[in-house]
Amino acid sequence: MLVVLTGGTGGAKLIEGLAAEIDPAQLTVICNTADDAVFHGLYVSPDIDTITYTLAGLNDGERGWGILDDTFAVLGQLRRLGNDVWFNLGDNDFATHITRSRLMAEGLTLTQVTERIRAALGVKATVLPMTDERVETRVVTPEGELSFQEFFVKERWSRAVESVHLIGAERCKPAPGVLEAIRQSSAVVIAPSNPITSIGPILAVSEIRKALRHSVVNVVGVSPIIGRAAISGPAHKLMAAQGLEPTAFGVAESYRDLLNRFVIDSEDRVLRSRIEGLGIRVLETAIRMTCIADKRRLARQVLALLEK
Ligand code: GDP
Repeated sequence: MLVVLTGGTGGAKLIEGLAAEIDPAQLTVICNTADDAVFHGLYVSPDIDTITYTLAGLNDGERGWGILDDTFAVLGQLRRLGNDVWFNLGDNDFATHITRSRLMAEGLTLTQVTERIRAALGVKATVLPMTDERVETRVVTPEGELSFQEFFVKERWSRAVESVHLIGAERCKPAPGVLEAIRQSSAVVIAPSNPITSIGPILAVSEIRKALRHSVVNVVGVSPIIGRAAISGPAHKLMAAQGLEPTAFGVAESYRDLLNRFVIDSEDRVLRSRIEGLGIRVLETAIRMTCIADKRRLARQVLALLEK
């Protein structure tokens, strides 16, 4: 059993590769939920959805979110009716959020709903939220505090960032199945996801971090950063705001109590000895994934590293 901790975009690419290289039934994916938000009265869980759509072969790989070839008629009509529609939701994607919101209103937990949607879409891997409780990422800017989606999507991460904090993470319980999956895993992968707003919230659930710290299996991370910039999105900006060096070294450092192996880009070979100085074995390779061949090759390299 392989456990993967992930956000959406970068993590989904590696998970697509892993699911093609091993039996997906052997995969348990633990997803960040601190970006979850309510839009038009519907509960949206962007990272769970990106991972579930990816594993179902429905994802829009170009955009990195939503369902392939989706249309946006509902959003257009919502706009006509005077709604604020800065968060993009496709028509088929809406069906997921309607289903989730109805089931949650009937009393099901996020874990139970995620399981129903997974099964309905024929996904063989296990997909788990990090917690069933509400955790929220807040981004502090000079003009005030924003939710992660307001910062990332509405403001296109253009604002200066003073700090990032989480509401509700430390005292929340991991979702059912999360600790069991970690304890029963033969290896753990920390996906190339944003260390502050995707992996950060998962590791902020204190029992999850503790279980990983006590785990005796190999834990391999993949850098989402090349040089001093994220491959996409604002990870470098948020890391700098949190006092972390915005490089692959900074990512490794923030997971240093958990990792024993780390994959960095060949361009970052100058960082190798510093990362090894943290007691972490380093693999240099091409970490940018632009096609399925890249995803599968990197997945194979990660799997090989886990075995050694
Ligand atoms: P989010 O919820 O969409 O922010 O999802 P993630 O945190 O999983 O994805 C964002 C991170 O993925 C960013 O920090 C990117 O640098 C990283 N990323 C995106 N594409 C790639 C890629 O091809 N390779 C690697 N190694 N990282 C990537």
